[in-house]
Amino acid sequence: MDKIQHIVVLTGAGISAESGLQTFRDSDGLWEGYNVYDVASPMGWAKNPEMVLNFYNERRNSVLKAKPNKAHELIANLEKKYAVTVITQNIDDLHERAGSTNVLHLHGEITKCCAVDNKTKTYPYNKDLKMGDVDAYGSQLRPFIVWFGEDVPMMGKAVAITMSADIFIIVGTSLQVYPAASVIDYLPPHCQKYIVDKKIPNIIDTGFSEVEDVATTGLATLLKKYNL
Ligand code: NAD
Repeated sequence: MDKIQHIVVLTGAGISAESGLQTFRDSDGLWEGYNVYDVASPMGWAKNPEMVLNFYNERRNSVLKAKPNKAHELIANLEKKYAVTVITQNIDDLHERAGSTNVLHLHGEITKCCAVDNKTKTYPYNKDLKMGDVDAYGSQLRPFIVWFGEDVPMMGKAVAITMSADIFIIVGTSLQVYPAASVIDYLPPHCQKYIVDKKIPNIIDTGFSEVEDVATTGLATLLKKYNL
C-alpha cells in the first residue's frame, strides 16, 4: 500500500477574510483601524493595557460571530485523503470549526487567555477581559496571543512539521511576519509547493505553483487543477 502523503497547509489572515475578519496588510498596516504595534506588542501593552484588552475583546467578539468559509472546509476535507497538518498564523478558530483536527497556532488563540507572568498556562477567554481580572496568583490576565517582539514557542514544532511535508500549500499570507514566514526555508526537496493568494507575495519565486484568487475559489481551483 502507498504511504499516505502528508499535506501541510500554512495559512494567514487572508483565508479568513471571506468570513468577514479583516487582514491587516490590506489596510495599510492598520488592524481594524488600530496601529498594530499599539495593540500587538509588549510596548503597546505597557503604554495602554486597557486599549489592548478592548481591542482583543472586539476581535474575540468578531471571531465568535464569524463562520468558517469554503476554504477552511476544503482544507478540513483533505483529511479524507491525506495526513493533514495546518500551521496557521491566525488567532481565530475557524479551521477547527470547519473540522480540521490537527491545527498548530503559531501566534496564539483568541479563544484563550493567560497571565502576564505565565504564558504557558491558558484559560478559556469566554468573557470580555478587563484590568483587574487576575489568575490565582494575582497576575493580570491577557489574551493568549504572540505579540510582535515576543518568542514564538511553536516555531520549532512548525519547522519539524514542514520538514516532513510531501505537499505544502500556502493560503492567504503576506509572508512578511517573521519568524513564521521562514518555515518555507525548511521544505524538503521532494515537496510539491502551491500558493493561493488574492495577490501573490513577490518573495515567492521558486517552484511554487500559483493561483492568484481569493481563498475560497482559488483553493477550489488549485485542488482541482492539480488533482489533490
Ligand atoms: P497579512 O494581513 O499580512 O496578509 C494577508 C494576505 O492575505 C495578503 O497576502 C493578502 O493578499 C491576502 N488576502 C487578503 N484577502 C484575501 C482573500 N480573500 N483570499 C486570499 N488571500 C487574501 O496576514 P498574515 O500574513 O497572516 O500576517 C498577519 C498577522 O496578523 C498574523 O500573524 C495573524 O496573527 C494576525 N491576524 C490574524 C487574523 C485572524 O486570525 N483572522 C486577522 C488579522 C491579522
